[in-house]
Amino acid sequence: MGNVTLKETYGLYINGEFRPASDGATFETKSPFNGQHLSYCAQATREDVDDAVNAANEAFKTWKNVPVKDRAKLLNKIADVIEENAELLAAIESMDNGKPIRETMAADIPLSAEHFRYFAGCLLAEEGSAQFISGSSVFGGDALSLITREPIGVVGQIVPWNFPFLMGAWKLAPVLAAGCCTVFKTSSDTPLSILTFAELTKDIIPAGVFNVITGAGSKSGQYMLEHPGFRKLAFTGSTEVGINIAKAAAEKLIPATLELGGKSANIFFEDCNWEKALEGIQVGILFNQGQVCCAGSRIFVQDTIYDKFVEEAVKRFNTVTVGNPLDPNTQMGSQINERQVAKIESMVKMGVEEGAHIACGGSRYEEGELAKGAFFKPTLLTNVTNDMRIAQEEIFGPVAVVIKFHDEQEVIDMANDSEYGLGGGVWTQDINRAIRVARSVETGRMWVNNYNNIPEGAPFGGYKTSGIGRETHKEILNHYTQMKNIFIDLSEAPLGLYPKKF
Ligand code: NDP
Repeated sequence: MGNVTLKETYGLYINGEFRPASDGATFETKSPFNGQHLSYCAQATREDVDDAVNAANEAFKTWKNVPVKDRAKLLNKIADVIEENAELLAAIESMDNGKPIRETMAADIPLSAEHFRYFAGCLLAEEGSAQFISGSSVFGGDALSLITREPIGVVGQIVPWNFPFLMGAWKLAPVLAAGCCTVFKTSSDTPLSILTFAELTKDIIPAGVFNVITGAGSKSGQYMLEHPGFRKLAFTGSTEVGINIAKAAAEKLIPATLELGGKSANIFFEDCNWEKALEGIQVGILFNQGQVCCAGSRIFVQDTIYDKFVEEAVKRFNTVTVGNPLDPNTQMGSQINERQVAKIESMVKMGVEEGAHIACGGSRYEEGELAKGAFFKPTLLTNVTNDMRIAQEEIFGPVAVVIKFHDEQEVIDMANDSEYGLGGGVWTQDINRAIRVARSVETGRMWVNNYNNIPEGAPFGGYKTSGIGRETHKEILNHYTQMKNIFIDLSEAPLGLYPKKF
C-alpha cells in the first residue's frame, strides 16, 4: 500500500527492545477503509505489563537526574526525527486509522513535532521559586523556603484511536520533559504509528524511559490499571473507561488526568462571516470524520438566518469528497471500524425515531468502492431540540444536529444544558457578543470564528464529565511533577524551647 512497507509483526517495545508477548499471542490490524490486512501486533500479557513497569521504574532512577538541557535537546531531536519522517508517519497513520492524508500531513504529524519543541522550550524556561521568610512567629528567626518540582515517577498512559500519533505526542512530550518514564498503551485499532515512532527513536530515548504496550483495552489495558507500579495515570478516551481509570487511580491513591467525551456547541449568529461560518460547520464536524472529542456536533443557528444557512450547509455537505484516505484530494476518509459505523447508524435511527429529519447523509455508502469500507456520509439532522438524546449523547462520527435559537441567552442556556464541557465555537462579527458567549459557555475551550484548532501552548481539556486536567500547555507539567519544599533556617541561635537544664 502506497510506498510504505509495514512489518509482518510488531512486538511490544519494552526496555528499548521489541519482543513478542510472553505467550506469543497477537492480534491483526486491518485498514478500516478497505479491510486490507496491515500487520500483526503483540497482545500484552500481565507479565509483559509487569516487565514494562519494572523497566520504567529502573530507568527512572537515572532519567529523573538527566540535566534539563539534555532532556530539552532530546525533545528537539525527537521533533527533528518526526519532521524527517513526516511522510512515512502520515501514511501509516492514514492507513491504520482511515483519516485523509491531507489531514495527517497538515495536522497530526507537524503538530506532534511542534509539541515536542514546545515542551523543550518550557523545560528550559522552567524555574523554581524561593521565598525569604522574615521573623516567623513560630521560631522567630529568618528562613528561606525553596520550592522546586520533581518528576512524579512512572506514568501509565492510555490513548485512543482517533488521533493515535498526536495524542501520543500530547502525552509523551510532557512526560519526557518532566523527567518521568512511561508505559504507553496504544489503541489496538491503531498501534502502528506509535510503534514506528518507537523504532525511529530507539537510539534517542534511553531504554526503559518509553515503553509501548499493545493489546485490547479490556485485557492489556486492564492489566495496566491493576498494576501497583504507577505513580500516575493519564487517559484519553470514552467517559465510561475514563471513570474506570479514575477508580483505579483512587484505589492506588495516585492522580489521574482524563480527557473524555463531548457534545460541543457550535453557535452561529446572524452577523457571522457567511463563507467562513459555513466552512466552520464543516471543520467542526467533518474533520477527522467527526471522531473528535471536541467536535462541533450540536450546531445552533439563529432563527433569522436558519433556513438559508442550513440550505447552504446541506449543499456543502453533499459535495464533500469522501474516499481513499491516501488520495490527497480526499476531504473525508473512513470511520475507524465497522463497530463505530454501526454505532453511528443506530444513533441516527434513534434521532429519527425522536423526530429528527435527515437533511443530508444519514447512512453508510451502499454502493461502489466506499461500500467496502467503514464510510459514513456527512450528515446533518434538523428538526432537533436540545433535550433529545441525539442532541445530548456523543455520536463520534460525521453527524451533527442543527438547532434553531432566537437570542443570546437562549443559546447560552441550551449550550450549557449538557453533561459535557470540552469544546465549543461562536461565530459573530460582534466582539463583545463573542466574548460574552465564550465566557458564558461552560467548557474548557471556546473557539471564536474558528473551530478545531489545537496548537501547542493553548490549554485543552474539559469541564464537567469531559475530563480533568489540561494538556497542550505547560500546565500539564504540574501533573507530571510534584512540589518539593526545602525549608532553610537562617538563624544561628537555638529556639530556646528546651533550655539546657544541666
Ligand atoms: P475507549 O475509551 O474504550 O478506548 C480508549 C482507549 O482505552 C483505548 O486505548 C482502549 O484500548 C483503552 N481501553 C478500553 N478499555 C479499557 C480498560 N478496561 N482498561 C484500560 N484501557 C482500556 O473508546 P472506544 O474505542 O470503545 O470508543 C467508544 C466511544 O468512546 C466512541 O464512540 C467515542 O464516543 C468515545 N471516544 C472518545 C475519545 C476521545 O478522544 N475523547 C476517543 C475514542 C473514543 P483498545 O482500543 O485497545 O481496546
